[in-house]
Amino acid sequence: MDHGASDHTAGGRPDRGLLGHASNGREPRATDEQSPVVTVLERIRDEVAPRHEGRVADFIPELAGADPDAFGIAAVSAHGRCYSAGDDAAAFTVQSMSKPFVYAMAIEERGLDDVHQHVGAEPSGEPFNAISLDELGRPENPMINAGAIVTTSLVHGAGPDGRFERIRTALSSFAGRSLSLDEDVYLSEAETGHRNRALGYLSLAGGVLEGSVEEAVQDYFRQCALSVTVLDLAVMAATLASGGVNPVTGERVVSRRTARHTLSVMSSCGMYDRAGEWALRVGIPAKSGVSGGILAAAPGSFGVGVFSPPLDGAGNSVRGVAALERLSEDYDLHMLRIPSEPPSPVHSVTRAGGTLDVHLRGDIDFLAAEQVVSRLEEAVDDARVTSVTVELERVSGLSDAARSLLAAELRDLDGAGVEASMTDPAEVQDDEDA
Ligand code: GLN
Repeated sequence: MDHGASDHTAGGRPDRGLLGHASNGREPRATDEQSPVVTVLERIRDEVAPRHEGRVADFIPELAGADPDAFGIAAVSAHGRCYSAGDDAAAFTVQSMSKPFVYAMAIEERGLDDVHQHVGAEPSGEPFNAISLDELGRPENPMINAGAIVTTSLVHGAGPDGRFERIRTALSSFAGRSLSLDEDVYLSEAETGHRNRALGYLSLAGGVLEGSVEEAVQDYFRQCALSVTVLDLAVMAATLASGGVNPVTGERVVSRRTARHTLSVMSSCGMYDRAGEWALRVGIPAKSGVSGGILAAAPGSFGVGVFSPPLDGAGNSVRGVAALERLSEDYDLHMLRIPSEPPSPVHSVTRAGGTLDVHLRGDIDFLAAEQVVSRLEEAVDDARVTSVTVELERVSGLSDAARSLLAAELRDLDGAGVEASMTDPAEVQDDEDA
């Protein structure tokens, strides 16, 4: 393993996210100690490395020289701990894995409905570079080339540095370090990417691409040519998986709601014409790129990055797909994994005379609130209870749905003659819209 060699300190780190939240100054760095989590990654790498099928992409001439044996994996937890195995210092271009992040930028800037007047949200079931337009003239989704070029056209550049610099800054915030452009790969695609230009013109003809096709396509080629490592992919994915906050730097990059929208589209459209098979066998919102990378974001849990250049017929990394199938199994990352029992939202209940104090903990969603309500009803069936307080100091999140259910229960208690209140010392709020 080559942790020491990966240069995650290079370049300046952006201080503020799209929403202007400050970062804590930490930078992504793989753990040095031989953690058992690293052992899992190494075992998966060893199991998958002997697979030699697939072909390195060569339609962008500069990609053809990639080392077919390069193979790295990284995982970053929602707590911001970084793990990696194999070629974790190898740099490659982000390619289509830039698409979800630029889509997130467009949503932040214009709102979901506006963005989807220009691009659909249906899996195309077709290759990434297909002419997939719906009856309204919109590309089927923002994860295929046609849709991504439109999405890029929707982002507006501010100041002299323009749109690409904004995109570079945003993707750097997702990665937690400053990403740089691979000039050679950019120029190589700019010289040969005529199919993408054609897709751009079809979207212009359909009335959904904004501004100049050539400018949108050029910025799209540049965003695809940003240089990353597997650790960058894992941090970028972990930022989406953590609801838009980079778990390493602490910076809020996009809102929780935008992160959810992005994960939704990744889960239905991120793996092109393999999206259904992927949902079945891996079940983690993901995005692949022709450079041989895949990033996968397991909501609330891990971000994963894999790199191995040989691609299967759908343009997804052969070893990357195989590694993620195993990782999903070994790390319990399938998004439809059903917990054996819902976590209890009640930390403790204290009773002093007729006064009941119910201390809640963790994330209170509608299901958790429903549990609390039923506990309160049981407790006040005891006629000696005259007052109830619900304490939220250990609560990390309270959804609007949960808040209104609890408030309704407190009103009912009041109506029944039990003095009821909810203390909210930390001003806990659902940050869906933060
Ligand atoms: N830059 C590449 C293209 O537009 C990205 C495609 C991909 O990674 N699937 O063709």
